[in-house]
Amino acid sequence: MRIAWLYTMADSLTSPEGTREQDLIALLGQLPVACMLVSATDDIVVAVNPALEHLLGWSASGLIGHHSAELPLWASPKQRDGVLQLLFTSGSIQQHEARFQCHDGQSKPCLIYVEQVRIGDQSYRLAMVHDISERSNADRELRQSEAKFAALFIDSPEPYVLFDKRSAQITEVNHRFTEVFGYQPQEVIGKTAAEFGFWRYPSKRPAVINKLLRDGCLRNESVDLIARDGRVLNCEVSSNFILIGNEPCTLSCFKDVTEQRSIEARVKYQAYHDALTDLPNRLLLHDRLQQHLALGERHGLSCALLFFDLDHFKRVNDSLGHTCGDAVLQEVSRRLQARVRKADTVARLGGDEFVILLTGLSGNPEQSAERARVNAAELLEAVSAPMNIEGHGLQLSCSIGIALSSEHGNTPEDLLKHADTALYGVKASGRNNIAFFEPQMQVVVSQRLQLEAELRQALQAGEFRLHYQPQVDARTQRITGAEALLRWQHPETGLIGPAAFMHALEESGMILEAGHWILEQACDFLARLLDRELVSADQFSLSINISPRQFRQADFVAQVAAIIARQQIPVQCLKLEITESIMIHNISDTVKKMNELRDMGVRFAIDDFGTGYSSLSYLKRLPVDLLKIDQSFINDCTRDSNDAEIVRAIIVMARSLNMELIAEGVETAEQLAFLQQQECHTYQGFYFSQAVSEDAFCALLGPPPATR
Ligand code: C2E
Ligand code: MG
Ligand code: MG
Repeated sequence: MRIAWLYTMADSLTSPEGTREQDLIALLGQLPVACMLVSATDDIVVAVNPALEHLLGWSASGLIGHHSAELPLWASPKQRDGVLQLLFTSGSIQQHEARFQCHDGQSKPCLIYVEQVRIGDQSYRLAMVHDISERSNADRELRQSEAKFAALFIDSPEPYVLFDKRSAQITEVNHRFTEVFGYQPQEVIGKTAAEFGFWRYPSKRPAVINKLLRDGCLRNESVDLIARDGRVLNCEVSSNFILIGNEPCTLSCFKDVTEQRSIEARVKYQAYHDALTDLPNRLLLHDRLQQHLALGERHGLSCALLFFDLDHFKRVNDSLGHTCGDAVLQEVSRRLQARVRKADTVARLGGDEFVILLTGLSGNPEQSAERARVNAAELLEAVSAPMNIEGHGLQLSCSIGIALSSEHGNTPEDLLKHADTALYGVKASGRNNIAFFEPQMQVVVSQRLQLEAELRQALQAGEFRLHYQPQVDARTQRITGAEALLRWQHPETGLIGPAAFMHALEESGMILEAGHWILEQACDFLARLLDRELVSADQFSLSINISPRQFRQADFVAQVAAIIARQQIPVQCLKLEITESIMIHNISDTVKKMNELRDMGVRFAIDDFGTGYSSLSYLKRLPVDLLKIDQSFINDCTRDSNDAEIVRAIIVMARSLNMELIAEGVETAEQLAFLQQQECHTYQGFYFSQAVSEDAFCALLGPPPATR
């Protein structure tokens, strides 16, 4: 506006009559636009108005009278030459952008207009300078934001599409869009998404568009889209309305979440299914149980829960390995599934525990109990049929506990608990059978829980003790070693042997803590015996029982090493008793750990030898020093010729493998005589002594050398 007005003014100045230089200068002085008047004859500045002084900061007196080439406002001589050149070629300058140096050092973007003006016979150049800093800042910002938008749009890692808001036609797509959906820009630009078949379900499009119009944006809206090659992609659309120039546009991002969705689906599936058998797991069973209980209530129906457990499954794992164990579980799951109706659920809760939910049974308790019994018997038979797993012929049995919704509970928790309790009852009374839940069964289970709680308390309160049973050389009657045996000093019951609680320690996992304490305690006792010179390091060894679970701990070797170092005991005095079941479980890990300990000097004994599933080939691979003949053979060796034979065979075998031998459970002189006949001289048994307290054991060793 202002510039246009100046034009008119400059035009009027070109009419020379009556206008004097001084009048013009006075006029310029009034103008709000920065002006400078330069004589065209000699290029000397004739006038500078206050607006120019204000704009550039130079005082009029510093500019007037100077040659225009000397003016400090030029950024460079080249700049001035450029302006003059433009002026000479066009006769005037209109809207030329230039940057002038200000007095304060900044360079200011300006728009200049230069007109030739005649006053009388004098020629002048009238320059008008307009500050465009603000405009230029705004321009720059706009350019920058456009560049940013373009960069974001073009290089975005997500597929972006720009639509014309009114026509819904695509105006632009980015590289990623082409990569993900396969469409080249020219194939889609100018078309609507519906026109090139982008939507898998076109009928859903209007609702999504309405939502966009209603809310002004879309956020991660799930849609299925079709790529150029026909693949269906699960996408999440986010859209916004934007203005590009003055054009209203819709900017949409189509994020491909196909893989994420399939991972989510897999994770969800895995969360509800057992990885090994693909059967529903506890969570899904719980869900279904809940549904059927609710349905049953409404329709007067009932359901039954059959809790399954394979008898002695651990033996399969221990003797044939886990791969074989897994194959057995898969076979069992196939057999169970084949025997139930589609509406029923076979679930695996873990380990060898399966649960079958029989649904739609009669609301009459007797009828539903009979159906459940018949079904359970069929399943028992199915599982017991011989199977061939990896070349091994196996025949398993199982135990089933049953709870009925009509009688034993109407919540999933109660039914599961009661079926489990019934199962416990079957196991306690000899396995391979079926039992319905009975309230008194709960007593047994709660006793077990009570025992675990008391053991936990005993561990904390320090109620465990170690007793020591001497190991004796029959030829000299000298004590050559001892076995540490765990006792529980119960505050009310008194001293309790491990038979009453060892299984609970093992199964609850408390054996890890207890086992560590036992190692520590036994080594401490050994250190004290040596310290008091009651035994000598080269003639005495202390045996410590190691439970399979304890041995399987990843840091077991480190634990033993740390205790030996702390107690500073001669390592060769330490014997670890393991049972054959450890050897068979993950043989390579077992051998590795045993060798590491053997390298430190620790020795190994196989406990209860002859009762497990030991194979000679395993035994040869293990760094074992000693076999302990199980007391069951010793018990009858003088009465039962079979047992006598077994004892003989073990002795011969140990000799050929170069292993030491100890007979366990020697109670009579006859048993000892028999063993000595077979050249087995070391024994442990009530015949010599039971396991006794530390003090009593020291007494058995006799007085220390000084007092002897
Ligand atoms: P084991 O390691 O075979 O220990 C020998 C068991 O036989 C001991 O029973 C011992 O008292 C008993 N015994 C020894 N001589 C005779 C005898 O002449 N006649 C009879 N009838 N029995 C005899 P205990 O102390 O009841 O231990 C039973 C089992 O509990 C042990 O068998 C062992 O497997 C386990 N156990 C005991 N203490 C520990 C321990 O500290 N850690 C671990 N992991 N298990 C232990
Ligand atoms: Mg033992
Ligand atoms: Mg034993």
